[in-house]
Amino acid sequence: MKIVEVLIEYANYSLDRPFSYFYKGKKKLDVGFRVLLNFNNRELVGYVTKCYETNKDIKDIQEEMGFNIEEIIDVIDESPLLSGDLLELADKVSEYYVAPKISVLQSMLPPSLSPRKSSLKAPKIAYDQYVRIVNDNEDGLTDKQIELLRLISSVDKVLKKEIKSKSILDKLIEYQRVEIIKEEKRRLKVPNYEYKTPPELTYEQKSVVEEFNESKDEVYLLEGVTGSGKTEVYLTLSEQVLKQGKTVLMLVPEIALTPMMMEYYLRRFKGDVAILHSELTPAEKYDEYRKIAKGDCHIVVGARSAIFAPLKNIGLIILDEEHVESYKQDVVPFYHAREVAIMRGKMHKAKVILGSATPSLESRARAQKGVYHLLLLTNRVNNKQLPKTTIVNLADYHNIDRESYIFSIRLREAIKNVLDRHEQAILLINRRGFSTSVSCRKCGHIFKCPTCDIALTYHKSDNMLKCHHCDYVCKMPETCPECGSNYIMKTGFGTERIEEEVNRLFPEARTLRLDSDSAKIRAKIPSIIEDFRQKKADILIGTQMIAKGHDFPDVTLVGIVLADIGLSMPSYRSNERAFQLITQAVGRSGRKDKSGIAIIQTYMPNNYAITMAARQNYELFYRKEMEYRRIQNYPPYSFLASITLAGKVEDNVVKNMVYLIDMLNQEFNDKGLVLGPTIPYVPYEGNNYLRTALVKFKDYKLAKEIFKKVVSIYANKSQVHLTINIDPYNF
Ligand code: ADP
Ligand code: ZN
Ligand code: ZN
Repeated sequence: MKIVEVLIEYANYSLDRPFSYFYKGKKKLDVGFRVLLNFNNRELVGYVTKCYETNKDIKDIQEEMGFNIEEIIDVIDESPLLSGDLLELADKVSEYYVAPKISVLQSMLPPSLSPRKSSLKAPKIAYDQYVRIVNDNEDGLTDKQIELLRLISSVDKVLKKEIKSKSILDKLIEYQRVEIIKEEKRRLKVPNYEYKTPPELTYEQKSVVEEFNESKDEVYLLEGVTGSGKTEVYLTLSEQVLKQGKTVLMLVPEIALTPMMMEYYLRRFKGDVAILHSELTPAEKYDEYRKIAKGDCHIVVGARSAIFAPLKNIGLIILDEEHVESYKQDVVPFYHAREVAIMRGKMHKAKVILGSATPSLESRARAQKGVYHLLLLTNRVNNKQLPKTTIVNLADYHNIDRESYIFSIRLREAIKNVLDRHEQAILLINRRGFSTSVSCRKCGHIFKCPTCDIALTYHKSDNMLKCHHCDYVCKMPETCPECGSNYIMKTGFGTERIEEEVNRLFPEARTLRLDSDSAKIRAKIPSIIEDFRQKKADILIGTQMIAKGHDFPDVTLVGIVLADIGLSMPSYRSNERAFQLITQAVGRSGRKDKSGIAIIQTYMPNNYAITMAARQNYELFYRKEMEYRRIQNYPPYSFLASITLAGKVEDNVVKNMVYLIDMLNQEFNDKGLVLGPTIPYVPYEGNNYLRTALVKFKDYKLAKEIFKKVVSIYANKSQVHLTINIDPYNF
């Protein structure tokens, strides 16, 4: 008989401890297996953390333990899910983020392998059937059979379903001339790109590569202006690492950027690359995951969770566009891929490269202190000039005329020039949909999401109101639900409205629109990007998705329709976000042979995030912003954590929060600043009222101990549910 300790699939602090079961069956069972079990009369999945053989009687064991234990229902896996180093990583992540361990395991594994009930229905391995020659002796065969035999022997092996004449094939099998073999199928279809000889590195790229090779440091910040050729540096270093027999983990922040990086790596390294990102189907993810785990490839290109890819012997971890916030998971365990990369790098003795034209302030500050090794690329490849940038003040009526209140005279001229010269333009507005909010002109009623309580956005293409936080949608009402009037007003504008404006002003221009609405259909994003690259459109309109990373050689104009969006958000990061977004967007212009320009429209022409982004001056922005962070004592001058309580009864949540804040104040004393309770930007979630406390602190170890204490007290409260977010991004 075996005794096992398991983690239950629910990611609650109250269940974040092992539960004991026994197993008398014959199946193999060990640490790292999933099991099916009964927990409080529910059939759930558990993850085995301890397992040992015993000869004792179950009665004696229960007596020793002081409680009854049950037998598990079944063993799910045939081998452990995670290798030793990933288990160790899971421990570290769960410890660092004060997160339930099962939540970390669930984030690490693809849906088919995840320790949760739903994984049991997820896709399993798929096989392809091939026909292969066993014996090419033609004696005694008919001419037709010989014909097929010769055909098969000319190609080594062939997919069974490609052979049309099944009866002839059956005969060949019967006569033992051919056999059917099963091979695991890779359901993700990757294009077969042709190899291109890499360009010779520029002088700057070479020096960066040399500096990297000569250094023994662990973490590097590769800060290179837009168009400085960071990707070529990644590829060169990856190649070196592969030659040493080690593996490479290449992370890209989001789906819009994966196809490009994928292409670069597939071109250079062919079948040695596995792909892991959120747009893959569960079946594709499962195949890629197993391909990596079996050691069938040495490179993984993927998004955030690919940091947990089961690569062995990692030599290099790269995070491209390290400043992008999608590297932070916004649900439990709230991990950030950058921190995990550094943990993992240490474990594998692998070097870690963080690359960006606009590094996050945290990373740059660490590089400044020498915690990271700073590598600089200060020029564009071939010394191409950075785009000439103009800021247009929308508050100045000279800049606007009756033709359009969205596009200034200057921007319209620039678009016209681009169209005349048959070049391309990118127009950016960091808000999707048609209008920002919808309200009743008569009574002032604002249409809000019933679950999140934030304003709904009008989407013209399907005539719907949508919540941009949850997936709530409803038909655009014709009358006001409060007063019955039909004076419904739409204010503000988003991508859809911009596209309509372009079509009105420049009917001959071909437009494409890219925002997360496009992401509703799989593979739509890469195809829009590809269409634009192939010049099937003149103007690409989009949100921040189009700002980063892309390399469109014919784009000579970038127009930022309203740079102010986001700057008014109450977040200590709003300046940083705006600066990064504008700098990145401006950097899309004039990257190849033609020089480019950028036009930034704003009501805040003197805001330093905007003026410095216009000059692409990271250094000055960094210094100014650090000064502000220092005065306000925000990261990187302090750590931040948010603690959220959720519950069905608002009063209860508030009372508990007040009590919690009291306790935090006592525990931190003068070692931290506790703010709150605040009502978060999105005040409800799934029928729960939310309240948040924010803590600023400098001593991370101390804070972690306090948070653990808080967790142990709140774990068993049934009316409120507690979550901790270390280094939250929405404050
Ligand atoms: P970044 O990521 O730094 O913005 P990219 O890696 O996209 O820049 O490179 C910009 C452009 O320069 C790309 O078209 C790339 O193919 C090209 N490039 C990079 N390195 C070289 C080189 N050494 N010689 C010629 N072209 C290069
Ligand atoms: Zn009304
Ligand atoms: Zn909502």
